Amino acid sequence: MTGNDRDLSVKTEWDLVCKELEAEFGEAIFKSWLSPLQIESVSNDGVTLSAPTRFMRDWIQSKYAERIRELWASRNASLKGVDFTVRAMHLKPGTPEVDAARVAAEAGIAIESVSLPVGNRAWTLEEVAAPLDPRFTFDNFVVGKPNELAHAAARRVVEAKEVPFNPLFLYGGVGLGKTHLMHAIAWHIREREAARKVVYLSAEKFMYLFIRALRFKNTMAFKDLFRSVDVLMIDDVQFMADKEATQEEFFHTFNALVDQNRQIIVSADKSPSDLDRLEERLRSRLGWGLVADIHATTYELRLGILQSKAEQMGIVVPAKVMEFLAHRITSNIRELEGALTRVIAHATLVGQAITLESTQEVLRDLLRANERRVTIEEIQKRVAEHFNVRVSDMHSDRRSRAVARPRQVAMYLAKQLTPRSLPEIGRKFGGRDHTTVMHAVRKVEELRVADPSFSEDIELLRRMLEG
Ligand code: ADP
Ligand code: MG
Repeated sequence: MTGNDRDLSVKTEWDLVCKELEAEFGEAIFKSWLSPLQIESVSNDGVTLSAPTRFMRDWIQSKYAERIRELWASRNASLKGVDFTVRAMHLKPGTPEVDAARVAAEAGIAIESVSLPVGNRAWTLEEVAAPLDPRFTFDNFVVGKPNELAHAAARRVVEAKEVPFNPLFLYGGVGLGKTHLMHAIAWHIREREAARKVVYLSAEKFMYLFIRALRFKNTMAFKDLFRSVDVLMIDDVQFMADKEATQEEFFHTFNALVDQNRQIIVSADKSPSDLDRLEERLRSRLGWGLVADIHATTYELRLGILQSKAEQMGIVVPAKVMEFLAHRITSNIRELEGALTRVIAHATLVGQAITLESTQEVLRDLLRANERRVTIEEIQKRVAEHFNVRVSDMHSDRRSRAVARPRQVAMYLAKQLTPRSLPEIGRKFGGRDHTTVMHAVRKVEELRVADPSFSEDIELLRRMLEG
């Protein structure tokens, strides 16, 4: 067969497979997921099909890939394999060619619902930037072991004469001080170098603005505006997950600013390499500068923060109460602050002194919620660390033993340590089926019986997680 003939027969085979898929999964599923697939390439190794977005590609891979391979193999036994890829971007950066409706749909938002600067005019930097919280300054930021690297990096950015690293990438869990540090940088620069244009905004707002710019066909103004900034801070970039057009726009803005030696600061809830729903090139770019993580709080940091807050409010809180709070409210700093505020507000309202008893009474619900509860995310993180694999491997399709075993261990621990059901656990592991989780649990149980040292390992992990 010539190359052409073969392409043709592959096309015919694919059409037939499509018919079977439609019959099997129904018209709705076929239309939304399978019919957008196109033959990308044919080679000696088999066929590569492409999906329009990364999200669709991943979904197809986890839900339909096996079946597609089976059906195709039953028509053509010599077929080596079927692979899935994301269709090459056909969006031309710099032109308003991108379809706003599609981007909005990708983002899962209705354009009309976005209440932001509107209309057919260029925006100002003041409109684009989010307001800064006056409390989020360097003076109010308590430094401790978990955040010292991030803090030092932030100070470096405001003190250095040249851009010290680009970007500064801050990451850590919810309520650990990422936004506080970014605002602190912005305040500092605003106060001391008023001529430098500093813009802070959330990734979400960046996306909204971008969509509006597309909608009103002023993407050129949008680009010019962002490219005029001296220091650009984008908070919570994990929000750009699967939003490919927004990522693309950000990527170009990012490169333009880096080329002009402007400072970029980005935050996220995960490290760049674990942001697996961002495009590879953006992810890798984000990791080029300094990556600083903020760890979970320690007792000492929590106590330090409480003391600092009480001092700021000018209220004397008994040491015993502060120690109690630092000991018991471990989830994050936002909750810790909330607890202190509640205790103080209550005492002021009823005109009584703050005591350990009144504190326990006022915070009963919060304290119960802070009783040690292990989350599946924590389990995945710990297990990944322990076995030296990436957290993203917990969700990935990779089947090699080196990652499959840790994944099974994490599923097993999730079953043991959380009240989650098998299907719920499966979903948290890259959308796996409940039978996969069941199999993992059995497998680990068997291994524990067969291998005492493995069993000890698991026991260790368990104790660590239960804290
Ligand atoms: P994140 O952006 O990481 O979710 P935030 O920056 O919003 O967290 O911080 C949550 C709350 O905790 C804020 O009120 C912030 O002022 C406070 N906070 C966080 N870290 C510190 C710190 N090191 N010292 C004082 N307050 C802090
Ligand atoms: Mg934040």
